[in-house]
Amino acid sequence: MKKILLLLGGSVLLHTAVSAQTQPHYNRCGMQMYHAEMMAQDPTYAAKLAAQKNSLQAAADYYIQLKRSGELERTSSTVSAVPIIFHILVDSAQFNLLGGTAGIIQRCDSQIAVLNRDYNMQNPDSTKIPSLWKSLYGNVGIHFGLARVDPSGNCSPGYEIRIIPGSTTTDGGFSSINQVKGATNGLAAWDVSKYYNVWCTNFLGGLNGLLGITQPKSDGATSTKMGVVILFNTLGCTAQNGAVPPGTGGSAGWPYPYNLGRTLTHETGHFFEIWHPWGDDGGACPWSGGSDDGLTDTPPEADNIYGNPTYTVAGGTITDACLDSTAIDVQPIGIACLSYMDYTDDDAMYMFTTMQAAVMSSMALVPPGSAGTTSGTGSVGENYNLTQNPSLLIPCTTSSTAVAPSPTEINSSLSVYPNPTTGEINVSINSQAETLHTIAVFNLLGQQVAAVKGIAGKDYYSLNISGMSKGIYFVKFDFASGSVTRKVLLQ
Ligand SMILES: [Zn+2]
Repeated sequence: MKKILLLLGGSVLLHTAVSAQTQPHYNRCGMQMYHAEMMAQDPTYAAKLAAQKNSLQAAADYYIQLKRSGELERTSSTVSAVPIIFHILVDSAQFNLLGGTAGIIQRCDSQIAVLNRDYNMQNPDSTKIPSLWKSLYGNVGIHFGLARVDPSGNCSPGYEIRIIPGSTTTDGGFSSINQVKGATNGLAAWDVSKYYNVWCTNFLGGLNGLLGITQPKSDGATSTKMGVVILFNTLGCTAQNGAVPPGTGGSAGWPYPYNLGRTLTHETGHFFEIWHPWGDDGGACPWSGGSDDGLTDTPPEADNIYGNPTYTVAGGTITDACLDSTAIDVQPIGIACLSYMDYTDDDAMYMFTTMQAAVMSSMALVPPGSAGTTSGTGSVGENYNLTQNPSLLIPCTTSSTAVAPSPTEINSSLSVYPNPTTGEINVSINSQAETLHTIAVFNLLGQQVAAVKGIAGKDYYSLNISGMSKGIYFVKFDFASGSVTRKVLLQ
């Protein structure tokens, strides 16, 4: 930590082209420290990490090729939203700061909304993207929803809360990152092959001030450790759709300027295997012993950028110490400090680049073992299983029974079309073997947004959700003997 603080201090001196830089009170991300720790433990780790980074561009290229050819739609049409479970691990004072259970619910809902906007090119602050960068605005295409069913089949609100004594929240060392995921003073991970686990807690001691840290699959994270840990009060967003909702815990409940949910946007990038654009090398350039993130559309960058940089060139160019290598301009449009993967304030980051997005898409939206993924494409498909469990996203009101397997006969007799849709959802039922009670549409937050009433033995129904936000919805059919759920994409 001491070393890291020195490096951060050095970065301020290096970036003379960046103005309005603020001395950080927080450490945006623990990945650099984490990698240093792993390298100290494992002499082969540095080489593994370098090889993994070197495979990412091929993964991105492969995804783009699949997308262009239309092959992706043919091979992964069942992709659904990623179920998130928030493990809230706080002391009683922190619980109150979050606004209690009601505040936590609001934060979880707003955090899901932020992720879905940021990962689907729907973030309203994309208007800030400078003209030079607009063509690189990347769409990840991964959706997220609260986990509504736990690993035992019981109903879940998408979060769980454990109140612990403040002095034992974390012990300040890297062992504390594992501690929050354990049985003693922690909350155990849910099945990492089905759920995206996010722990929200405080960081003490040497980790004090840290906003987030991730253990992705590529780091060899075990089945009980894979996921993200964020500072508890960075969870959620103080503003949605331009409006400012009631504060949870008041303004003191938020670590400004990290109040727009971008801590989890950033860490989720690591979870899906993308890295800091400057390569975590302490300020060096790639051609002078430094490192890089392995992607072609993030220009070489010396070091991280904190604060809210002011663009000094029309169109949005900010350069740094890696500006000029042997008289070749390697930063013609500046550095990618506007990316979610840099260290700026939450309101100064508003895009993934095309290649950052494509790497993540390749991990979560492409089936593993697809043709072409066995050579030179790294770990394409490594998170695909997280997008294959739509039933975990459907709210239920009673334990176990609400997610009972659907009757095959009913399932095969239902048609829901068109899908994707621009608003109209038509339903036809070719069998009257079962009595249909209700048809309801839910969004990813588990909120019912539409329903068909007065159902009386008809075999055709029509709903319209064109007024809703674009994204994934679930159409749930309740029959006498069970439910059937279909996913619909509103475009
Ligand atoms: Zn990071």
